[in-house]
Amino acid sequence: MIPLPQLVCASANQHKVAEIAAILEGVVDLLPRPDGVPDVVEDAGSLEGNARLKAQAICTASGLPAVSDDTGLFVNALDGEPGVDTAYYAGPGATYAQNRAKLLSAMAGATTRAAHFRTAVMVVWPDGRELSVEGVCAGSIATEERGERGFGYDPLFIPAVGADGAANLRTFSQMSDEEKNVISHRGRAFTALVVALSRA
Ligand code: IMP
Repeated sequence: MIPLPQLVCASANQHKVAEIAAILEGVVDLLPRPDGVPDVVEDAGSLEGNARLKAQAICTASGLPAVSDDTGLFVNALDGEPGVDTAYYAGPGATYAQNRAKLLSAMAGATTRAAHFRTAVMVVWPDGRELSVEGVCAGSIATEERGERGFGYDPLFIPAVGADGAANLRTFSQMSDEEKNVISHRGRAFTALVVALSRA
């Protein structure tokens, strides 16, 4: 049997790694992030740039091809904020709950609640080759938190369309992991990666 290509996952976030592993299962041998590699400063100013910094750091540390992703939430009424600063919206070290509270308060009185998540995925090989893909999930910001599952902004993000293709009113937190994976920004980006790797 031909061995699967190996990619080291730059993320150590268990929620994300589980989502990514489920999508890449049978296509890529996803190796865990090596211990002891310091976090990079994500200061490239773009999702793609930050994903490249993280993948390069893990590729250099492991000597193996590495895959990284970077996600932003872009809210129309906030001129695209929090965008590249989504993880730190309420300040350095902010918790998911603090970020959500800031978002709800920033949206008070907003006339549109439209928003989208975008994920940039970058693979970097030791010889310097790169591959980048992206995934987008359009939706809106709820007026209050709903649901128990997931992480980050999941209790506030309502994808416009569910996995069945029909209009949706549930937050990501009210969906199963399987349904979220089909329609999410990260799910779409890593599905695009599977296609791109098959052509690389
Ligand atoms: P990261 O680049 O994947 O670490 O994502 C940056 C931030 O976006 C995270 O800290 C989360 O707050 C948020 N985020 C990313 N993906 C999701 C998701 O699938 N649901 C909700 N929030 C997310």
